[in-house]
Amino acid sequence: MKQLVLLSGKGGTGKTSVAAAFAHLARHGPSPLPIVLADADVDAANLELVLAPERIEEHPFVGGSVAIIDPALCEACGVCKTTCRFEAVVPGESYRIDPIACEGCAACLFVCPTQAIRMEPQLAGHWYRSQTRFGPLFHAALRPAQENSGKLVTLVKQQARLHALDGGFPALIVDGPPGIGCPVISAASGADLALIVAEPTVAGIHDMQRALQTTAHFRIPSLVCLNKWDVYPEGAQGIESWCQAQGIEVVGRIPFDQTITQAMVRGEPVTAHAPEAPASQALLELWKKVTTRLDAGKEP
Ligand code: SF4
Ligand code: SF4
Repeated sequence: MKQLVLLSGKGGTGKTSVAAAFAHLARHGPSPLPIVLADADVDAANLELVLAPERIEEHPFVGGSVAIIDPALCEACGVCKTTCRFEAVVPGESYRIDPIACEGCAACLFVCPTQAIRMEPQLAGHWYRSQTRFGPLFHAALRPAQENSGKLVTLVKQQARLHALDGGFPALIVDGPPGIGCPVISAASGADLALIVAEPTVAGIHDMQRALQTTAHFRIPSLVCLNKWDVYPEGAQGIESWCQAQGIEVVGRIPFDQTITQAMVRGEPVTAHAPEAPASQALLELWKKVTTRLDAGKEP
């Protein structure tokens, strides 16, 4: 089973449109390829907006713990307040913990002389197994102000991978989160191939380079595709020249095409909405090249 991860150095490059088109082409393209999808952008999962999934399973995600003080046991000695390095303890007649400020380190728990403090696991979000018309989708939602998105990404990916292995699916496509932080590393780890979706702007080159640094660090073979390349052809040429000098293949050029927006509004991949549109044709060519490189069909 081969694993493809789609990345971009930042949000808004059209990565999710590419992922949705790949999902459609995997099912209805010239060489059907059964896939499992994972939306690893747990802070703002967008793939479900395009793929209209039907939820099959919902599971809680416990991210971490926060300290709780039992007022009946607290003697207001203040030891926990002086111990807490995160200023999460609020003094009073009996002390209490600010759950937003608490980092869950449990230091206060060990110093409290009256055992008034306990740690309580916090519900940080949910992860889901859904069915789309193009295949199973694993996705998640982190609750507001919750951290640990890297841990949730790892969980979503593990579940998607297990499902793909159990079901004999030859490929897993992971729509990665934007940026370069911990969730991106979680999304990219173990990938056989990364596709970086880049925009030909000055910032876009920098974002692409950051994404490529991450994949190079983990020795993941990487390809680049340019989205809206014709909005700034000189910028597109600059990216291609840079990639060529680094030995990185630019495998696709998707033109600016309002059909993509129309398709998003209708909740459809552009390749399903308007197969003859210039963007759809470019995505089809991109999909063929990426699957050739992924070589998904040859592994048991
Ligand atoms: S250390 Fe224990 S008893 Fe002292 S203020 Fe904190 S919770 Fe209350
Ligand atoms: S668990 Fe850590 S961060 Fe939270 S209140 Fe106790 S000492 Fe402070």
